[in-house]
Amino acid sequence: MSVPFPRSTIIGYPRIGPRRELKKALEAYWSGQMDGESLEREARRIREATYARLTDLGLDPHGSAIPASFSLYDQVLDTAVVLGAVPDRFADLPDGDGVLDLDAYFTLARGDAGRPPLEMTKWFDTNYHYLVPEIGEHSPFTLSAGTLLRDVDEAAEAGYRVRPTVIGPVTFLLLSKAAHGAGPSFSPLDRLDDVLPLYADLLRLLAGRGVRWVQFDEPALAADWALPEERIREAVGRAYGRLAEGTEHPAILVTTPYGSPGTHLAALAATGVDAVHLDLVRGAVPSPADLALLWGKTLVAGVVDGRNVWKADLRAAAATLDALRTDGVALSVATSTSLQHVPHDTGAEPALDTRLRSWLSFADQKVREVTVLAQHAAHPGAVERDIAAASRVLGERTGARGVARPEVRARAAALTPSDAERRPYPERRAAQQAVLGLPLLPTTTIGSFPQTADVRSARARKAKGTLSEGGYEAALQDEIRRVIGLQEELGFDVLVHGEPERNDMVQYFAEHLEGFDVTQHGWVQSYGSRCTRPSLLWGDVARAAPMTVPWTSFAQSLTDKPVKGMLTGPVTILAWSFVRNDQPLAETAVQVALALRDEVEDLERSGTRIIQVDEPALRELLPLRRAEQAAYLDWAVRAFRVATSSAGPATQIHTHLCYSEFGAVISAIDGLDADVTSIEAARSRMEVVHDLEDHGFGRGVGPGVYDIHSPRVPEAEEIRVLLQRAVRHIPAAQVWVNPDCGLKTRGYREVEESLRNLVDAARAVRASA
Ligand code: GLN
Ligand code: ZN
Repeated sequence: MSVPFPRSTIIGYPRIGPRRELKKALEAYWSGQMDGESLEREARRIREATYARLTDLGLDPHGSAIPASFSLYDQVLDTAVVLGAVPDRFADLPDGDGVLDLDAYFTLARGDAGRPPLEMTKWFDTNYHYLVPEIGEHSPFTLSAGTLLRDVDEAAEAGYRVRPTVIGPVTFLLLSKAAHGAGPSFSPLDRLDDVLPLYADLLRLLAGRGVRWVQFDEPALAADWALPEERIREAVGRAYGRLAEGTEHPAILVTTPYGSPGTHLAALAATGVDAVHLDLVRGAVPSPADLALLWGKTLVAGVVDGRNVWKADLRAAAATLDALRTDGVALSVATSTSLQHVPHDTGAEPALDTRLRSWLSFADQKVREVTVLAQHAAHPGAVERDIAAASRVLGERTGARGVARPEVRARAAALTPSDAERRPYPERRAAQQAVLGLPLLPTTTIGSFPQTADVRSARARKAKGTLSEGGYEAALQDEIRRVIGLQEELGFDVLVHGEPERNDMVQYFAEHLEGFDVTQHGWVQSYGSRCTRPSLLWGDVARAAPMTVPWTSFAQSLTDKPVKGMLTGPVTILAWSFVRNDQPLAETAVQVALALRDEVEDLERSGTRIIQVDEPALRELLPLRRAEQAAYLDWAVRAFRVATSSAGPATQIHTHLCYSEFGAVISAIDGLDADVTSIEAARSRMEVVHDLEDHGFGRGVGPGVYDIHSPRVPEAEEIRVLLQRAVRHIPAAQVWVNPDCGLKTRGYREVEESLRNLVDAARAVRASA
């Protein structure tokens, strides 16, 4: 019999540090201002501070309740390193005697002069990005557990018995891509039997270090994959059957965050694993029959939302726990997912409206919620006061001013199908051409120009109060003047103002719309050292005044060429904010769409002839289960159309999407009914044109010809070849010429040259068309 699982736990904690200490240390190390030893020391300090904090918040420091979930960069990369699953191109990197060599590790994550890094992609339906392991038919695996063991020893030295966390074998292989050169029928999951012995050895090593519980994360069980479900189910049974065999290993917890494991639960339950975690926020509460499967195990009930920032409804969570009480199944309380998706502490937000702050629960507050609920699970009634207090706050939130605004709701309810419908495309096309008179293969950019040090400093000084509102405006106008002048000189057909007023494409709108607030320190890791600070969407959304019109009109006053107005779309605003959880996302989306609709109308009224509504996150919120995708795409598309459909036929609506894996969503993208759609395409060398051709995409499309994710300047000839490829598959009359994405993070030197080449290439192809 294994040691009992702790009564309360979390399955992961933010790694970046309350003041982004890890980010700062990493960036100092990469730029040569900090040595490796100091970086390691800082990382250790963050780990130990985390253990101490979690102990203070009520997790048992000796009972395996604290997960060792730290990572210097990414948890999937860490597991790849443990398994020695390093692509051939990195074979010469030193392995540092079992403990990771820092530079080798960062080379995998960030590449070096001669080698691209591992690819990066979205972690499930979150805004976190992981590094994609590459596994071939014969890639060797070798166990390299040094870092994991060091973490365990170091914690023990400081007085903690922690619970090591590793990505489980099924998820690890499903998240991997087939290495270059693997046969067409190969999938990394074919290598399951080759990695299992390493996982088994790892368990033995950890047992030898006194570890009592190990956590294997298997979020892949909550998603649908290209492989058949039976195949994955069989892999789950085989993997955990093998790992749980015998008694020479620590007890095993398997987590399944981000949804329901569905039929994989039975496969998992049939093995000897000791505890199973379920996400009971996103996923379904198990039926009595499912519960019965867990007989003899611990059910780790993820009832506290790990992905959102709202105070938990403790009464509802307690009721869920009550319903799960079953003979023969031990019950433990946890978060639904790792807390890596939320900021550290609401205590760091003194400037926030106190009423709003009382509704919030960041990572540290969520740990408290977990421990309170665990007390309820052990002694029902013991924490009635805490439960009542939470209900009171929730009640206040429901009734608070701004949360439910009758006029906003009435407007959303009054929408009819025709409000999401524009005139037929041929009519629009003719009207737009008459107004705009654009050449074949028109050139444009995606919106932002490099954010210069001057612009950033002006914003900082305005925030500090050392630059007046007027002074700030003047500084931005100077920048706009420069950006317009540059585009005219380069010969662009459709200009942009460059977005210098935007710190961030969502936060800018959150700062101007009612129903939102922004935090000071609410950073969450996006990838590596990169963090974002999602806004808080807490109330009904409405627009008090125009948000972008003055900037766009000013830019338009400087030129005869059309200047595109630039807005962020409703789905992207939701995806990159913390959104209220008291009504369906679809309803909130319509409110945001209506606020944007007002902006579209004002832009049009002020003489803007082209308006772009960016939806780079459209695919991000796509549900992990296929059965749920159509309903999502339906409301997402409708929100975009509500935002854009009041535009007259002569106003050209653009949209921009940031990815090229298009297949699953191409009908939805077509459904947006934008006149022009720009998409990422340069990195995949225009592969997307095949999807567009197969689909019969009939409106304007700008497949990106300049990869802005790298500082490299593309030659005009190279761009010309890409464009030629595009016009072989899409009629030239539909094709636009633009970069892959905004230029915000680039420098002017490389941008000017690249854009010059882009315009040259467009001219060359035009001349030969
Ligand atoms: N218009 C935005 C920009 O150019 C689009 C950014 C994005 O797609 N992420 O910065
Ligand atoms: Zn983009």
